[in-house]
Amino acid sequence: MRVTIIGTGYVGLVSGACLADLGHQVICVDTDEAKIDQLKQGSMPIYEPGLEELVKRNVAAGRLKFTTSFAAGIPGAEVISIAVGTPSASDGSVDMQYVDAAARMIGTHLAGYAVIADKSTVPVGTAERVAILVKEATPQAFDVVSNPEFLREGHAVFDFLKPARIVIGAAAQRAADVMLGLYAHIDCPKLVMDTRSAELTKYAANSFLATKISFINEVAQLCEMVGADVDHVAAGIGSDPRIGKDFLRPGPGWGGSCFPKDVKAFLKLGEEYGRPMHVVKAAWHMNQSARLRLVERLEKRLGSLEGKTICVLGLAFKGNTDDTRESPAVDIIRELDKRGAAVKYYDPEAKCAADLGAATRVHSSYAAAAAAHALVIATEWEEFRTLDLDKLKQAMAGDLILDARNLLDHAAARCAGFECLRIGKPDLTIDAPTVTQ
Ligand code: NAD
Repeated sequence: MRVTIIGTGYVGLVSGACLADLGHQVICVDTDEAKIDQLKQGSMPIYEPGLEELVKRNVAAGRLKFTTSFAAGIPGAEVISIAVGTPSASDGSVDMQYVDAAARMIGTHLAGYAVIADKSTVPVGTAERVAILVKEATPQAFDVVSNPEFLREGHAVFDFLKPARIVIGAAAQRAADVMLGLYAHIDCPKLVMDTRSAELTKYAANSFLATKISFINEVAQLCEMVGADVDHVAAGIGSDPRIGKDFLRPGPGWGGSCFPKDVKAFLKLGEEYGRPMHVVKAAWHMNQSARLRLVERLEKRLGSLEGKTICVLGLAFKGNTDDTRESPAVDIIRELDKRGAAVKYYDPEAKCAADLGAATRVHSSYAAAAAAHALVIATEWEEFRTLDLDKLKQAMAGDLILDARNLLDHAAARCAGFECLRIGKPDLTIDAPTVTQ
């Protein structure tokens, strides 16, 4: 099948490369010339495990191409996927300028029937909105479907090729059949529904997952106070299939390019329809306070943060990605900086985030730890799990670790002379025996 992807970011590039690998003929179109040049030269604009090899293989096979030209990308396509960004507007609603611009360009260059698939996460009613914009620019026949994407950064290639389900929202059977053909080689349940249900499914899924994390983080805070261990509680509740084990890992709170903006959009949608989403709103507030609470926990232990040197390991919003959008690590660094701490941070892959105050980036964990009074683990990179704790201790001026990802071997950290504060574990406890499953 001939497929065009509009927007070559995390979703567009991964979708394009994976669809090409499934045998489709794919053109990725992006307005960002530098990004397209980089891809044409064989270098990746994002860090995503397995992606580079996939892109190279399919470019070499002639199944994957990159262009900034809509005139080259649109005519002849049987499926045109819109995968542009849908960031939050200042009032929490969705900024639709990129989707609208993509729809107009599709209309301008459409040369025959195509299925236009909204892969971006978009508000309910977007399929109709895109159809109006395309129709204004072309007499050609087309259908618009909703095809939300559920991949996770860091696991994007796997998630695209082995998804839990594919959701297709279509008003016309012809369009649904084209989409089923596109994904024929992916073995998973394919849920065909109306466009509005498909659009809402994506927001409801992300809001539910975010709420689940906020819930376990709230339980974790209670654990710290009552002397319980959140890992045991999570295992105890997660073994019930009605609850499930996934998304019960406590941490500094959810972030990234999706959950915060999608939860905001979900709340906004409820507001617009006079149906406030009370449960999800509580999850949002819990998440905001979780980051601040970590800094307060550190401050309580160190006294004032003014003039203290703090090492922060991690900047990306989670491990295995370079994405720092809405990262808890970024908020933690900003808050430490605001409270007068001298922050040194290290991340193996993260792109630089804007405005981190006077915080300085260094090239290794040990350089970040030099003369630090405390160390914060803010992102779950695998390399932080295996740090040489004795070397760290020697480099630091203090002995406090705030392990906001519960990544370190607590007993080993104590052996190396550290006091280790963790999430959902009382500060001064003897470790209970491991839970048997
Ligand atoms: P991104 O910012 O990484 O990429 C968007 C790309 O679109 C950019 O390269 C940009 O230059 C390009 N673009 C903008 N306007 C364009 C236009 N008019 N024509 C062509 N290209 C244009 O964004 P992303 O993370 O890939 O997210 C894309 C969409 O997918 C969003 O709606 C997001 O919510 C959704 N989504 C993202 C993820 C994720 O993990 N990142 C997962 C599921 C769904």
